[in-house]
Amino acid sequence: MPRDNAIDPPDTPAHGRVYNFSAGPACMPESVLVQLQGEMLNLFGTGIGLLEHSHRGAAYDRLLDEALHAVRACAGVGPEWEILFMPGGSMQHFPLLAMNFVPTGGSAAFLDTGLWAHKGAAETSRVCTVRTLFDGTKVRYAHVPEAREIADPGDAAYLCYCSNNTVEGTQFRAPPRTAVPLFCDATSDIFSRDLDWDAHELVFASGQKNLGASGICVVFARTSLLARANASLSPMLSYAHFAKTQSRPNTPPTFGVRVIGLMAKWTLDHGGTAAFARRAAERSAIVYAAIDRSGGFYRGSSEAGCRSTTAISFQLPSDALVDAFVSESELQGLHGLRGHREWGGIRACLYNAFPSQGCTLLASFMDDFARRRG
Ligand code: PMP
Repeated sequence: MPRDNAIDPPDTPAHGRVYNFSAGPACMPESVLVQLQGEMLNLFGTGIGLLEHSHRGAAYDRLLDEALHAVRACAGVGPEWEILFMPGGSMQHFPLLAMNFVPTGGSAAFLDTGLWAHKGAAETSRVCTVRTLFDGTKVRYAHVPEAREIADPGDAAYLCYCSNNTVEGTQFRAPPRTAVPLFCDATSDIFSRDLDWDAHELVFASGQKNLGASGICVVFARTSLLARANASLSPMLSYAHFAKTQSRPNTPPTFGVRVIGLMAKWTLDHGGTAAFARRAAERSAIVYAAIDRSGGFYRGSSEAGCRSTTAISFQLPSDALVDAFVSESELQGLHGLRGHREWGGIRACLYNAFPSQGCTLLASFMDDFARRRG
């Protein structure tokens, strides 16, 4: 069972490594990297390396079983949820969701709360009609909607939202309430806190943040939802078929499945989602405090009530200052702080494996930079 008093992960990087604030692929626990290093040559004492094992053999059966077990325990979901490992990134799921769950002539609803939700809606609109129930561009994506700001979904097949807007740094405190099935892109906050699973029918996340490897997604889907999916799709695009074949309708991304399994186990070993939620709140507060005491030099991208605990995004007075901030911070061993290329500014991602001393160092660097350049 997850425990909230578990030992904290190391709070500084190993010798020769730096604080990596990258949005993804992102920093991973060093213990997991070391384990993978050994398994590359010899998995489970078989004399065959992780990348060399057949996906139909006993070693992969064990690896898959361990991964499913750890992911299920970390999420805390029961047998009414299927857990799928699917190749590709989160972006692939937007059209896939529509193909699987929107009937001919039907629609999907979206909350446009940021760049990824926006791109997701655009991808979906290639397959079916999209209804935007909240247009965050009108508020410069500074907040996620309250219930009264969300329009009626009508007969949309589902409502899809993004729980944590990685680029803009806003996060839903609780899932939006809606009369239609709720789907969640949890790519950048999966396993960083408890999720209200009862509110959802499907949740997906790509691997390159709290799950480790890129190019693979975990999809949690209710068995009852899969039973209602479009049965005439190519099996290779069908969630139900992935469930039926234990996520191996063809050769699966075996390395990614192992990484996700180890990441989920590491998360459990360090207290599970509740402990990481507490840490994320504490760590992000250190950086937000530096924004707030800067007298407006740093301008946070999100409103106070929905600040993300895993992606902190802020602007500086000029692009030249952003460049200076990035290069000077790197000299202090603080890397990966440049904001998304379509949003600008600075972004600090604090995923589960991020060593927490980095937040204190970043905050004091921010104080110093503002004093010198403000
Ligand atoms: N959704 C969110 C919330 C993201 O942060 C990202 C990538 N950072 C994506 C979707 C796209 O993920 P991928 O590159 O795996 O398709």
